[in-house]
Amino acid sequence: MAIITETQLRAMLSKGVPNPFPLTEGDLMTPAAKDFLKDRNIHIEPVAADPPGLNISGKPDFGRNTERGIPVGVSNRHVHLSIDHVAALFGKDYNLTPMRYLSQPGQFACKETVTIKGPRGSIEQVRILGPARGFSQVEVSLTDGFRLGVQPPVRLSGKVQGTPGIHLTGPQGSLELDEGLIAARNHVHMSPEDAERFRVKHEDTLILRSTTVRPIIFQDVVVRVHERYALDFHLDTDEANAGAIKTGDLFEVIGRNHVFYNDRLGR
Ligand SMILES: [Zn+2]
Repeated sequence: MAIITETQLRAMLSKGVPNPFPLTEGDLMTPAAKDFLKDRNIHIEPVAADPPGLNISGKPDFGRNTERGIPVGVSNRHVHLSIDHVAALFGKDYNLTPMRYLSQPGQFACKETVTIKGPRGSIEQVRILGPARGFSQVEVSLTDGFRLGVQPPVRLSGKVQGTPGIHLTGPQGSLELDEGLIAARNHVHMSPEDAERFRVKHEDTLILRSTTVRPIIFQDVVVRVHERYALDFHLDTDEANAGAIKTGDLFEVIGRNHVFYNDRLGR
């Protein structure tokens, strides 16, 4: 809780006092501060308190509980395949073999891998993620793009229109994808309950700060809300390595929709 005084408001005059003035739920204002605003025809607008994840001290203190933090899942390069492409690479009626289930319900890493090949080079043993999808998609890092000799655009999963193609080789055949190579845009999966807790909706963005030895802030992380999603911040190996981040690390929510929470007066 903060108490807003006339002195604080007066100090804001040079920069401009916002109108309406946001008064965070739970904060108080002195009578002199109220008069100060009234004299200037500035209305007071009550706003909701910051959702969990806000850290006033600047030091993360959420420990291992996810009440205030969001756990991270680092995605290595991988391939999603359509049913037709599973057949083309592994043989007719082939069923992918789940090896390890992922944080999102129903998603699994498969025993099977493929080789991906671009104009400059190839990468072997690229993991397939199941189940089979409506269309194939290959997710690599920007570093992988240099190795392959093709520049993957940064896109959300599923947004493959106009993206470069790539060559795939499996044990029973190979094929050329016309499109589908992307560097996945980082995103947070969450349930509607989590969305309510963090006060965001589908396609909002969060500002997330890592709490590693090499702290890093991701400013524009897209929120994906679905009732089957588990709370998880997905980024790729380039992003993780840049910040010494590994799967299971916790990120702190420090803002949303391009605004830092602690920009507010008294915070
Ligand atoms: Zn994801």
